[in-house]
Amino acid sequence: MKSLYHHPTFGNITISRTRRSRRITLSVRPSGEVRLSFPPYVSQRRALEFLESKREWILHAKAKYAARPVQPSLSAEDIERLRAEAKACLPVRTEELARNFGLRYGKVTIRATRSKWGSCTAQNNISLSLFLMTLPPHLRDYVIIHELCHTVYHNHSAEFHALVDKLLGGKEKVLAKELRGYSTR
Ligand SMILES: [Zn+2]
Repeated sequence: MKSLYHHPTFGNITISRTRRSRRITLSVRPSGEVRLSFPPYVSQRRALEFLESKREWILHAKAKYAARPVQPSLSAEDIERLRAEAKACLPVRTEELARNFGLRYGKVTIRATRSKWGSCTAQNNISLSLFLMTLPPHLRDYVIIHELCHTVYHNHSAEFHALVDKLLGGKEKVLAKELRGYSTR
């Protein structure tokens, strides 16, 4: 049994009572739609109470999905502005971080790369995406430090991640997770 319910805060909620459910489950689709399913022996009222108890989680999940498509696409002019900012900022910052950590690299190139934030060649030349300028500075540093560590390890081995984590004061996982919330689009 499926029904659509309109919630004053969460919007459309698809409610389904199915024999297959073993417990109350709640999910938020990328469209923002909330789904609530529960087994036949659970009352709809009990399921809705459960929904209310997850209020923070639902709002957080909806906000996370909403933030993505809303990001306006950049005009050619915006991209040129970002390129100029990136050229003024990123090579200097890379130099500073490399000096801090005693790492040596070849040169830094700024590109309009959307597929990745940065890369490092076997010759230790670092390429950085100009879209890094759309990130908060601490995430920009995280990407630069990741690429600088590739001058020591040209792979994503455990040793590589241990070095990145050390230089980031033990925050690699937290920052990696935070970065996944951003895109180059
Ligand atoms: Zn890497």
